[in-house]
Amino acid sequence: MPHRLGRLLRPGRHALLAAAAAAALVVGPLALAAPATATTATATASATALARPNFQTPLACGETWNANTRTNHNPQNSVDFQRSGALGRATLASASGTVTTVRDLGGTSYGRYIVIDHGDGWTSLYAHLASFNVSVGQRVTVGQRIGSVGSTGGSTGPHLHYEQRSGGSAVRVIVNGLAIRYFGNTTVTSSNGCGGGGEATGTVRTAGPALTVRAQPTTASAAVGSRANGSTVTIQCQVRGQSVTGTYGTSDLWDYIGSGYIADAYVYTGSDGQVAPTC
Ligand SMILES: [Zn+2]
Repeated sequence: MPHRLGRLLRPGRHALLAAAAAAALVVGPLALAAPATATTATATASATALARPNFQTPLACGETWNANTRTNHNPQNSVDFQRSGALGRATLASASGTVTTVRDLGGTSYGRYIVIDHGDGWTSLYAHLASFNVSVGQRVTVGQRIGSVGSTGGSTGPHLHYEQRSGGSAVRVIVNGLAIRYFGNTTVTSSNGCGGGGEATGTVRTAGPALTVRAQPTTASAAVGSRANGSTVTIQCQVRGQSVTGTYGTSDLWDYIGSGYIADAYVYTGSDGQVAPTC
């Protein structure tokens, strides 16, 4: 039953979990050799505050789950999403990104699990899955189905083991702005995948420095953050602004990524044109 799940994962097996996840870390793409004007780039990549993705509940729209945390969970900041009838329910990407791990560890630890890289050192991990819907290298958007809830690995009852990681370390989970209670239980109703979406995913490509996020679609406006070279961004909408010359030529298109605007001339989207709705 769901409320007995607190003891399902034996501590002894969890050292293996952390080791497996660490081994799965992927180094970011190499910087391009192509020159890029520094108009919108900063030289302070290492000093950048890394933007946390707006993670959503990794479960289907409208479903209510119990988010259980406990001191003997490993990593301790992991969340077990539990409910009756959990088996086979959709597991959704909690933020857009690139799938870096799709692995089956057999009857121990995470069992079948997936890791998604969201850029800026942020990843999310989904374990004990019954089945997979994605493969390594695949781009996924928030709300996209990546697998099914299961009970594989070191689990004795269907539930979703979920982690949010920054720099490889599990951090306390926040979904849709809701901070999960540590330690105890939080009732969560997912709104992931409820909207029509229309957003797109891109990858920041500079000559190396981080790309500045601006308050408005012009380099003269305030810097409100930055995104590292190689990081994945979710483009909510796009607008025409100042013309900027970057890695991908000259363009007046700017991408709104939630916290502000970045010049599309530095973002690989697979198209020189508009790929998301107009802001
Ligand atoms: Zn767990």
